[in-house]
Amino acid sequence: MATHRIAVIPGDGIGKEVVPEGIRVLEAAGRRFGIDFAWESFDWSCERYAETGAMMPEDGLAQIRSHDAIFFGAVGFPNVPDHVSLWGLLIPMRRGFQQYVNLRPVRLMPGIPSPLAGRAPGEIDFWIVRENTEGEYSSIGGRMFEGTDDEVVVQESIFTRRGVDRILRYAFELARSRPKKHLTSATKSNGIAITMPFWDERVRAVADEYPDVRTDQYHIDILTAHFVQHPDWFDVVVGSNLFGDILSDLGPGVTGTIGIAPSANLNPERAFPSLFEPVHGSAPDIAGRGIANPIGQIWSGAMMLEHLGHADAAAAVMAAIEGVLTTGPRTRDAGGTANTIEVGTAIAEAVASAR
Ligand code: ATP
Ligand code: MG
Repeated sequence: MATHRIAVIPGDGIGKEVVPEGIRVLEAAGRRFGIDFAWESFDWSCERYAETGAMMPEDGLAQIRSHDAIFFGAVGFPNVPDHVSLWGLLIPMRRGFQQYVNLRPVRLMPGIPSPLAGRAPGEIDFWIVRENTEGEYSSIGGRMFEGTDDEVVVQESIFTRRGVDRILRYAFELARSRPKKHLTSATKSNGIAITMPFWDERVRAVADEYPDVRTDQYHIDILTAHFVQHPDWFDVVVGSNLFGDILSDLGPGVTGTIGIAPSANLNPERAFPSLFEPVHGSAPDIAGRGIANPIGQIWSGAMMLEHLGHADAAAAVMAAIEGVLTTGPRTRDAGGTANTIEVGTAIAEAVASAR
């Protein structure tokens, strides 16, 4: 029996409510498919920051470096600014563990009305691959003549050939594994005159290694319009840190599904643990009421199973999610009246009875 050591970071708010449902479903999948999990929980959060002044202990990364994966809820707390949780926990993990791929599905699911009229489940089904460690999100730069009328502010973008090529290769490999074999690159080489032409150049160079993959590119501005008007055009969409960030919130927005959307921060080489988390945050407005939709967390668990090499178990969890979205029970955001635990339990039961 395979045993996987998983670092669990529930975080704040509804993170603490949906993570136990994710574990409930993964345990059911484990019993059904012969996978053993060793869960180890860490209280790293904005709540911890408010008490101690740090999101995680100083040797935090070392404590979880040898785990097989990180199962993460959400962090966020009223009065703790977003940059504290980002730079105090999420970015150190992404960079320290070289989780250079941020991967998100955009899929229209049964029972979830899309804001796009007349679309059926299955019609929209693609992946967004975001570069997660470099690009526009740097802290290199500065302010001159601060506070005067002559103030000048500069922030650098960093694109390395190694960094760009590895995210492109990941995206091309993913495209190659899918029936449509279609890759779309997000660019802006008409306006961003140095880094984006370089990005386009690397897309062309890596595309030469994948003659079986159809490749195209759009400027980010028109691409956002196509996401809304023609989401059925896409198969795998790859973008830099900033463009990927924008697209990966637009995707779940288009399919109407913040409460069910999952994501993965991947170190494809498996030299370090990858991190699996729902797209949504800690949702302080509904925290503590037991009504959060646990499906974003559970679907993230399915992505974790896939990464750990259990494609059959992942498929069973996905089938269970689709079944429960179709028949209910559903939480309020998905048009039902059920609570978090009822939905998690129904999905776990569906997994347990999977063929
Ligand atoms: P944070 O600061 O942690 O990012 P936030 O409030 O900015 O939190 P989200 O947590 O993503 O952002 O919440 C956005 C909206 O979506 C909120 O109204 C929230 O209640 C709702 N929401 C988010 N996740 C869920 C969920 N799992 N189930 C139901 N509603 C959700
Ligand atoms: Mg937020």
